[in-house]
Amino acid sequence: MADDPERIAVIPGDGIGREVVPAAREVLEAVGPDFEFTEADAGDAVKEETGEALPEETRELAANADATLFGAAGDTAADVILPLRSAVESFANVRPVRAYPGVDAPNPETDLVFVRENTEGVYAGHESEIAPGVTTLTRVVTEAASEEIARYGFEYAAERDARVTIAHKANVMRTTDGLFLETARSVAEEFDVAYDDALMDALAMHLVQRPEDYDVVVCPNLAGDVLSDLAAGLVGGLGLLPSANVGDERALFEPVHGTAPDIAGEGVANPSAAMLSTAMLLEYLGYDDAGQRVRSAVTETLASGPRTPDLGGDATTRDSTDAVLSRL
Ligand code: ATP
Ligand code: MG
Repeated sequence: MADDPERIAVIPGDGIGREVVPAAREVLEAVGPDFEFTEADAGDAVKEETGEALPEETRELAANADATLFGAAGDTAADVILPLRSAVESFANVRPVRAYPGVDAPNPETDLVFVRENTEGVYAGHESEIAPGVTTLTRVVTEAASEEIARYGFEYAAERDARVTIAHKANVMRTTDGLFLETARSVAEEFDVAYDDALMDALAMHLVQRPEDYDVVVCPNLAGDVLSDLAAGLVGGLGLLPSANVGDERALFEPVHGTAPDIAGEGVANPSAAMLSTAMLLEYLGYDDAGQRVRSAVTETLASGPRTPDLGGDATTRDSTDAVLSRL
């Protein structure tokens, strides 16, 4: 029914996930849409208790929620996040990478978004050892998945008056990336969006030199993985980067960082990435104003403080959360 509250699954996980996810949830509750929150366990701690890193009830919760907010998992990360991403049937991994005023960034001009194909490419898993000392990998690229990711990227760009760059290596991988590029170009014809394409190796260099030239970068799976980490290095600080795993019916939002075992339990983790992930969650569910309010409050707090130690300040997660809440 249209007026049922949206169901939000909250999965803090391990390490600083248990600190930043509750902080992000406070922000989500403060901006107010009437959400129904359900919390569940995943990761190392629950595996130690029950033998399972991703209990079936947690997987089902994510598979049935409208959106999931996830923190991080430690050694069990692959056993948790990969099945969770498929539980929400996500086909796109969306990673905005931007520099914030007040935060030391190697390149303060950086403000772009990676839209990464999330289901195939070399990560489809067809690896084998065909003889001792000889291994192979099959790369899967389909027209259907290429079309889906390209359409998502162009729609995303159209809504934001942005341009698109299609990353590929079609000069070498002519059949697979050739299909990816050709499919993305034909999707581009449906949109009034400026676009170009770039060889992923040259793109890596240009991203370092002139990140301001790029808005939305649509990438095959592996290229998106590498290029988005590279760009993350341009803005300084893992504590700032949110991400979304987007499907048609549901989606999962998570900070890019992991469990940060070196600071976990000290109450000093930077909650910005988790909070910015909730801004993406709000926008995914159609609460654009609320999402923008969260983004502005986090941006103002990064600019004028208080700041957590990773950004050179001495604020706790609590101080930083209170500052964001007071600006909402
Ligand atoms: P994992 O295996 O869970 O990814 P990791 O040791 O790789 O753990 P990350 O969480 O990836 O740790 O973080 C890498 C570094 O960045 C750590 O030094 C961590 O303290 C720092 N860091 C990451 N996220 C944050 C945050 N939100 N606030 C402060 N520092 C952070
Ligand atoms: Mg890590």
